[in-house]
Amino acid sequence: MNISSLLARSAQRQPERPALLRGDRVLHDYRQLAARVAALAGHLRTRCAVAPGDRVAIYSANCPEYLEAQHAIHWCGAVAVPVNYKLHAKELAYVLENSGAAVVCTSPELHDGALAAGADPKRLPVLGSAAWEAAAQGAPIALHDAAPEDVAWLFYTSGTTGRPKGVALTQRNLLAMTMAYFTDVDEVDARDAMVYAAPMSHGAGLYNYVHMLRAARHVVPASGGFDPAELADLARSVGRLSLFAAPTMVHRLVAHLQRSGLGGQGFKTIVYGGGPMYVDDLRRAIAVMGQKFVQIYGQGESPMTITALAREQIVDTDHPRWLDRIASVGVAHACVQVRVADAHDRDVPTGEMGEVLVRGETVMAGYWNNPEATAATLRGGWLHTGDIGSLDADGFLTLRDRSKDVIISGGSNIYPREVEEVLLLHPRVSEVAVVGERDDDWGEVVVAFLVADGEPVPDAELDALCLDHIARFKRPRHYRWVESLPKNAYGKVLKTELRRW
Ligand code: AMP
Repeated sequence: MNISSLLARSAQRQPERPALLRGDRVLHDYRQLAARVAALAGHLRTRCAVAPGDRVAIYSANCPEYLEAQHAIHWCGAVAVPVNYKLHAKELAYVLENSGAAVVCTSPELHDGALAAGADPKRLPVLGSAAWEAAAQGAPIALHDAAPEDVAWLFYTSGTTGRPKGVALTQRNLLAMTMAYFTDVDEVDARDAMVYAAPMSHGAGLYNYVHMLRAARHVVPASGGFDPAELADLARSVGRLSLFAAPTMVHRLVAHLQRSGLGGQGFKTIVYGGGPMYVDDLRRAIAVMGQKFVQIYGQGESPMTITALAREQIVDTDHPRWLDRIASVGVAHACVQVRVADAHDRDVPTGEMGEVLVRGETVMAGYWNNPEATAATLRGGWLHTGDIGSLDADGFLTLRDRSKDVIISGGSNIYPREVEEVLLLHPRVSEVAVVGERDDDWGEVVVAFLVADGEPVPDAELDALCLDHIARFKRPRHYRWVESLPKNAYGKVLKTELRRW
C-alpha cells in the first residue's frame, strides 16, 4: 500500500476537516489537500518525467508546500529524499548524486543553491511559486499502487562523522512507524494539530502520517521554524498542539513559558527525543507544563521507533524507580524487539552495558547502494544502533552515549552524560556538553563546554558539585564557557566539533 493512502482516506471520509495551516490560517481542507497532491503528482509524472521508484529530493525549510511535495512524491510512487536545508551546496550535490535524484523540489531562497549543486533547472519545481500553484490545479493522477517493500523515503543520516548514508525506508516501515505512534506514544483525533517546529526533513515530518490518518490539522509556523514565543501564541490560537521537539527545544520552550508566566494550556503532547533529555530539565518542564510529555528513542535506521517512555510513567513520581525511569528512554515499542549485546552479539546480563540492537517492522531495508555498510549494520538480522545502553529488569532501556563519545581516561570508561547531568544541577549552568581531550598521561581527560545562565560559575564550585555526585576521576579537567554549543540542524550537539575546539 501507498503511505499517501492515509491522506486519500481522510479526504474521502472527512473532506471538510481543516488539513493544512500556515500559522493559525487554514489554507486547505482535506478534500482540497488531496486534490492538490494528486495534481502535483500528475505534474511530477508528466512534466518532470518521474516514474515510480525514481528519487525526488525536497530541499526546503519548513513550509506548508513541503507536505504537498512529500505526498505528491509518494502519490506518484516515487521515493522522497528529504534534504536538510542547511546543507552546503557541495553536500547537497553529494546527496543528489548518491541518491540519483534528478528532480529537486526546492524553496525560492534555496533555488540558486540547488542549481549550484547541479540540479537540472528544468526539473526544479519551486514550492509556493506561481508555477507550483498552477501545477496544484492541474490534471490529477490516481494514487500509485505501491508494494510494501517499495522504498518510499530515503533519509540521509545527519553525518556528524563521515559521509552521510541514505537510509532506505519502505512503505511498510513508514506504516509500521505510524501505527507505533498509536500503540506507544499517543492517541490522536481530528481536532488535534501537529505543529512543525522542528525540521520536516527529519522526525517531525515523519509524524505527519499519524495526523493524516486521523484527519488532524497540520500547522506550519509562519516563521517556518522553532520560535518559543510563536509556539506559545499558536497554542492559544490553534490549540491542541502536538509537536516533536529535540530536548534543547523543550528547554527553550519551557524557559519562555516560565518567564512569561504561561503553562501548558493549548499544548496536547510534546514528544521529545533525538538526544538526551537531562533529568533536571524534564522536572522543570513537567512543573511548568504538566503532563504533556512522551519520550521516544529512534534513529534514521528505525525511525522514531525503538523505545518510548509513556506520559504516565513520566509523571509517576511515586514510583520507587521514578528517577531511573525518567533518565531512561522507556521500553521497546510494541512492533520491535530490543536487546543489549556485547561485541559478539551475545546478550549481556540485565543492568550491564552493551550495544543496543533492534529488530522489527520499522527497521530500514538497508543503506542505499551501500551493501557493505548494510551488511555490517544489519548483521544477523539485527540493527546495530551504535548506541550504548543497558536494560533493567522491567525492560527500561537507559542510554549511556554513542559508543564513539565514551571517554576513556586512565583506562576507565567515562560516560559524558553522567557528568553532564551533574553539572546541570547548578542553577547557573544552562547547557553543557562533555567530551574527551587527548592527554599524554591519561589517554583522554574530561573537558566540559558550558553555557551560562547569568555569570559563569567558578571552577572550584563546579569541582565541588562533581565531587559530591560522581567519582573523582570523572571530574572535568577543564571548564570552557561558550556563548552557545555547536548543533546540527536537528538540534544535536556536534561533539566532533567540540573535540576539534
Ligand atoms: P538520527 O538518526 O539523526 O535521528 O540520530 C539518532 C541518534 O540520536 C540515536 O542513535 C541516539 O544516539 C540519539 N537519540 C535519539 N533519541 C534519543 C533519546 N530519546 N535519548 C537519547 N539519545 C537519543
